[in-house]
Amino acid sequence: MEQLVELNTYVEFGGHYKPPDCIPLQRIAIIIPFRNREHHLRHWLYYLHPILRRQQGEYGIYVIEQAGENTFNRAKLLNVGFVEASKENNYDCFIFSDVDIVPENDRNLYRCSQNPRHLACAMDKFGYKVTLSGMSVDRPDRNIGRTKMIRHQRDKGNEVNEKNYVVYNRMKYTRNQDGYISLKYSLIKIEKNQLFTKITVDIGKPPS
Ligand code: UDP
Ligand code: MN
Repeated sequence: MEQLVELNTYVEFGGHYKPPDCIPLQRIAIIIPFRNREHHLRHWLYYLHPILRRQQGEYGIYVIEQAGENTFNRAKLLNVGFVEASKENNYDCFIFSDVDIVPENDRNLYRCSQNPRHLACAMDKFGYKVTLSGMSVDRPDRNIGRTKMIRHQRDKGNEVNEKNYVVYNRMKYTRNQDGYISLKYSLIKIEKNQLFTKITVDIGKPPS
């Protein structure tokens, strides 16, 4: 981590960056759901800070850590990240990234567009093919959207969850009441590191 900090001295404390020689069009919050993946985080920071700097965006990195051993809830952590980052800065754009996802091409701009934008549209793990349905989604060109996912084992607390299918199937009825709008959590700690801000939260147990 010390070496990483030395390599990225342009990053301001807390993992913020602002290009010195242009006025950025968007303030970008990058939100990463997290628990017990320190090695992936180091890898992500190593690759992403230089890419993001070259893209000349103004950005802040938020690592949202789920405290405790309960079932990992990635989506809830993303909602927490949105709320907590918004308290810190007047962000115009929110990017949700897994900790193990690294773009292969600098031209895959970490920016928002008119519609939600699927940045990792061509992931190696899925043979660079991804299917999505529902709303209209913008994507970069497939070559630009190539993405590396670090290979890993399933984590403890993130086992295949049969309930996901039930929740997913009900989503069209529940999405207006369940999610960001009903979000409850308690903030445990905000820790400013040189290359990122880590926000640790208790998000409770999944409903039974
Ligand atoms: N994650 C984490 N700790 C865990 C489980 C998941 O930090 O114990 C985060 C991490 O950002 C990870 C993301 O949630 O990249 C998605 O989980 P995972 O990588 O297991 O999903 P998959 O590889 O199946 O896409
Ligand atoms: Mn993964």
